[in-house]
Amino acid sequence: MTGDAGSVRRALNVADLEAWVRRSAELIAEHADELTDLDAAIGDADHGANMKRGLSAAAATVEAGSFTGADALLKKVGMTLVSTVGGASGPLYGTFFLRTGGALSGRDSIDAEVLADALEAGIGGIAARGRATAGEKTMLDAWSPALEALRSHPGDLAAGVAAAAQAAARGRDATEPMVATKGRASYLGQRSAGHIDPGAASTALLLAALDDVVAGRTV
Ligand SMILES: [Mg+2]
Repeated sequence: MTGDAGSVRRALNVADLEAWVRRSAELIAEHADELTDLDAAIGDADHGANMKRGLSAAAATVEAGSFTGADALLKKVGMTLVSTVGGASGPLYGTFFLRTGGALSGRDSIDAEVLADALEAGIGGIAARGRATAGEKTMLDAWSPALEALRSHPGDLAAGVAAAAQAAARGRDATEPMVATKGRASYLGQRSAGHIDPGAASTALLLAALDDVVAGRTV
């Protein structure tokens, strides 16, 4: 299946989700050093390398596979991330894609509402797995505003996803002054303030990748 490069999407199909995974791998690879630098400040300096390895493996799986459904594709991505991304973020991102895929069972045309419902399921998986909520300096601080922005554009996938990508970037930046209360950064207490959360930064890249696909900026 080939993507429909150059045109704005009204709904996403399986080929578009494949393009999302490929574009995510590209953006994560381009920004891997930045992610590692962020993790060096408040974690263990492996987030860039971990995410680059995981998304690269997921992109390779997508290339090699032949997926007839969005659910099968995203579940495979989730399982690949669980088995290739180390640290806390592997299970969190893995759970996100498994849950998002599960919510897309039987869907081959994903409009703004279907996407929002699926992302909400995935984000709920992150919250449950990490026992976290927004405001704790985690990837949820990028995911939560992104979902809210997507929901604010019902019936307009392109506007919704563009708004979601922008909201995720703002959410990422808003983690800088926060004191972490979840994850490894929470061990630092007050000293975790003054640094952007690396998980929120990688989440913003995944949403930027989705925006590139929806806007027709990928092949
Ligand atoms: Mg780490």
